[in-house]
Amino acid sequence: MLLGPPGSGKGTQATRLAARYNIPHISTGDALRAAVKAGTAIGRAVKETIDGGGLVGDELIAGIVRERLAQADAVAGCVLDGYPRTAAQAATLDAMVGALPLVVVHIAAADDEIVRRLAMRRVCDACAITQSVSHDTDPDREACPYCGGNLIRRQDDHPDTVRRRLETYASLAAPLIAFYADRVTFHSVDGLGPLDEVTAALCAHIDRCRR
Ligand code: AMP
Repeated sequence: MLLGPPGSGKGTQATRLAARYNIPHISTGDALRAAVKAGTAIGRAVKETIDGGGLVGDELIAGIVRERLAQADAVAGCVLDGYPRTAAQAATLDAMVGALPLVVVHIAAADDEIVRRLAMRRVCDACAITQSVSHDTDPDREACPYCGGNLIRRQDDHPDTVRRRLETYASLAAPLIAFYADRVTFHSVDGLGPLDEVTAALCAHIDRCRR
């Protein structure tokens, strides 16, 4: 399970870990955005909260995670990204996983670097690959270098919303990290290093825990 502020690279690292360990990447943010895009009842209920950078209710998100963890492809494990976000959610997750081993990694990143990264983050509306544009002259729509689709800035990556998301994270992170900090399966890595180094540090910790 990956903890860390928005923009710390959790999604990118989760994708890499999922490929490396051949387990699914379960992102609550992706699941909610998919529900919004599909216009489901859940999607309609959470759209405003997500766009504004707030958190959706604990019960709703716990239901989504519980359902997803019960699917066949997650039986051998998964990479959980974006859940839990609060100490209360962490307690709920403990109850969900029971005696199954939980490896917890915190990816740390400074706020100014996060604001800089998220200002450049775009998601392709066709192939869904998240990528960084090299400048921030906007426009919100540019062509995806992989498939030619539109590169879109996530609604919640606009700078005012990013600040709100960072405030939300800051108010919840300390108790969440404290919840796990004493466990031998908890480890904190510096998310500002080169991508490959961060991945290597994560894998080293996971492999230690699996031994
Ligand atoms: P993310 O892609 O992880 O940054 O999540 C995008 C948005 O989805 C967040 O800003 C929240 O509005 C919502 N969200 C994702 N995960 C959770 C969670 N565990 N608890 C509450 N809201 C969440």
